[in-house]
Amino acid sequence: MKADILTIFPGFFSGPLDHGITRRAREMGLAKIEVHDLRQFTHDKHRTVDDRPFGGGEGMVLKPEPIFDCLQPLGLALREQRLAGTAKESVILLSAQGQRFTQQVAAELALLDRIVLVCGRYEGVDERVADFLADRELSIGDYVLSGGELAAAVIIEAVMRLLPGAVGNEASTRQESFTAREKVGEVTENEAADSTCGSGGLLDYPHYTRPADFRGMTVPEVLLNGDHQEIRLWRRQRALEKTLRNRPDLLESVELSDEDAKVLARIKRDRK
Ligand code: SAM
Repeated sequence: MKADILTIFPGFFSGPLDHGITRRAREMGLAKIEVHDLRQFTHDKHRTVDDRPFGGGEGMVLKPEPIFDCLQPLGLALREQRLAGTAKESVILLSAQGQRFTQQVAAELALLDRIVLVCGRYEGVDERVADFLADRELSIGDYVLSGGELAAAVIIEAVMRLLPGAVGNEASTRQESFTAREKVGEVTENEAADSTCGSGGLLDYPHYTRPADFRGMTVPEVLLNGDHQEIRLWRRQRALEKTLRNRPDLLESVELSDEDAKVLARIKRDRK
């Protein structure tokens, strides 16, 4: 996969791209990430990237020219082809007003050959970028950041770890929190018990490692007895409990098995 990031703060990315799985994906040649400095696409001596908004109002707005000029030589397919899905590329504008970035969107993006992330700043970006250049606007959550750089780093990390080969144990990315339920079926019972995750569609279940007794805080007995079926049931129950407690909204879209439904009914009864 190729990823391009358009920003007025290129130095911001030297940290996030140089660690962990993103670094590994780059070193393994699974991903090539290029950061483009929008100031290099300005034509005045002050390298101006922003201007006052038409109609008045607070703050400054990122000008369209540097963004259009930076994107033009990147050799992307036409916007119509990208939108029709005939080109496996997407130009994404980071925006608090965008659609919510989720694990499902990360999985969609991981299937593409190329993503371009445009980072806004100030009061935002001239709307013509959203209307005529970007294919979609994505938000990483219902809060306002000062710029799109952190959001771009979040998206890069979430997408890179889904590239085949980027994570050592691929079963782990198939079963993490929010992962579509059907993927769980691809994992055998033993894998589900052995792998580090296994809560498809729900939040992940709790994880423990050595020591089994840490300052009097002990690991649940069930995880030490080697009974895979019992471990699987226990993990599923904990995942259901945690989802009910922290993200009950997820339960509305998850397809629950009969066993899940019974466990959930019991958990709800016990909570009363
Ligand atoms: N005036 C805008 C609004 O009220 O929606 C906020 C602009 S914000 C201060 C500047 C830039 O930060 C945005 O153009 C966008 O690129 C980025 N940004 C802020 N919050 C974001 C979020 N939740 N997700 C993605 N990008 C965000």
